[in-house]
Amino acid sequence: MIRSYDTIEVILERATEEPMDIIKQAAGLTVGKEIKSDGIVKSLLKKNHTSLFEHVNYTFLIKGASRSFLAQITRHRIGSFTSGSQHYQDYTDKDFVMDEQHSTGNEFIIQRMLQCYKELRARNVPRYEARQALPMGIENDLMWTVNARSLVNFLNLRMCLRNVPEMRTVAEKVGRVAYWHFPQLFSEVGPDCVMSRCKQGEMACGQEYVAEMPY
Ligand SMILES: Cc1cc2nc3c(=O)[nH]c(=O)nc-3n(C[C@H](O)[C@H](O)[C@H](O)COP(=O)(O)OP(=O)(O)OC[C@H]3O[C@@H](n4cnc5c(N)ncnc54)[C@H](O)[C@@H]3O)c2cc1C
Repeated sequence: MIRSYDTIEVILERATEEPMDIIKQAAGLTVGKEIKSDGIVKSLLKKNHTSLFEHVNYTFLIKGASRSFLAQITRHRIGSFTSGSQHYQDYTDKDFVMDEQHSTGNEFIIQRMLQCYKELRARNVPRYEARQALPMGIENDLMWTVNARSLVNFLNLRMCLRNVPEMRTVAEKVGRVAYWHFPQLFSEVGPDCVMSRCKQGEMACGQEYVAEMPY
């Protein structure tokens, strides 16, 4: 089946409970006094004293994004990843993910591409070799554990309109989940044009950033 990016699921499997409490405790420890105000989060972000956010952790399940997405997200080295295996699993019946605007009308070409893997498997080529014929758009499930500091960096970089639509779709879904868990931090986070100012120079998109709430 050919699916569009809006079918990608971002599920929060685990997160640090009461993130505000642990941040206040850590900040209080640095200055030797009790911190009571939630405003500490904004202050730490502004001062770039963001190492304290490393005490807050998330584990996301990202279901149904593509292998090209996997190649991009794993560039974010401060985090832990577990991906579906093309060695152990057969990919004959897996879905293909692509922007609907571009897949529509091109279904025959996409099916022809997927057929190569199926034919290699039918000829008893092992999964770990037949996988070489799989397209980048083949679906994948991924577990991602990341701390809040690294997540701020990820959202800052990946919500930017210079990213490909699939990455932006996932980044916005992740951002939304993180916001509902820790609004004091993630209401302050977005691409540079939202957080401070665009640094892209001549590569700037020139568009106004518009996203669904909470961004
Ligand atoms: C719009 C866009 C286009 C891109 N295009 C390309 C491309 O064409 N080709 C390409 O290869 N990549 C590309 N990237 C990926 C990009 O270069 C980064 O690899 C990716 O965004 C991860 O960012 P990061 O290093 O900040 O994250 P992480 O790896 O999570 O690192 C977080 C932070 O830790 C520090 N850090 C981590 N590792 C080191 C280290 N070894 N040494 C010093 N400091 C370290 C840095 O401060 C870094 O910002 C693109 C990214 C974006 C957003």
